Amino acid sequence: MHNSPAETCPLCKSQNTTHYLRDTFREYLICTDCSLVFVPKTFHLSEQEEKQRYDLHRNNPEDPKYRAFLSRICNPLKARLPKRAYGLDFGCGPGPTLSLMFQESGHTVDIYDKFYAHNPEIFQREYDFITATEVVEHLKNPQRELQKLYHLIKPGGILGIMTKLAIDKSAFEKWHYKRDPTHICFFSKSTFEWLGNTYKTEIEFIGADVILIHKTGKGHR
Ligand SMILES: [Zn+2]
Ligand SMILES: [Zn+2]
Repeated sequence: MHNSPAETCPLCKSQNTTHYLRDTFREYLICTDCSLVFVPKTFHLSEQEEKQRYDLHRNNPEDPKYRAFLSRICNPLKARLPKRAYGLDFGCGPGPTLSLMFQESGHTVDIYDKFYAHNPEIFQREYDFITATEVVEHLKNPQRELQKLYHLIKPGGILGIMTKLAIDKSAFEKWHYKRDPTHICFFSKSTFEWLGNTYKTEIEFIGADVILIHKTGKGHR
């Protein structure tokens, strides 16, 4: 009964995608090659609807709870970065905070956001590190966006990602994370392992939702 037309995986571009599950408002597909769970295009919000949702979540850079949340990616990165590193916070949202936290430790950080900080010049630069917190689950074309970011990182640099990881189908069924209509890509540990193999580089998992993609320099990209 779940006959959806084959939809190409937005991460690995494979056609080997199949029905995963359906809830009251959307369907989810899974890619058997990279394990990405994703929402078919027909359920994607328009850019305008998407922005309206983000406008509701104006994070305050002074909010200690928000800072504690971001420290989960900020602290491990700081521990691995050289002094005075040059970074980019990609998808900083309407209240850039992570960039301030790095700056407080002597790093320099550019910000970029499709809706709130449209600075296309960042795509001409090279970075020691890039952060994308609560970003990848929103991407319509994660293959292109991740490739673009990875390309901007210097050899030896780090792409730090924060996203909740999909565990298995029974957990997915009850998962609050999929209730957000702007969440359309759900990565699992195997998805990032696939990415590490594809980029020929090392992936480091920290806690439940932080993934560091090291650009080791032995890859071809
Ligand atoms: Zn895939
Ligand atoms: Zn999100």
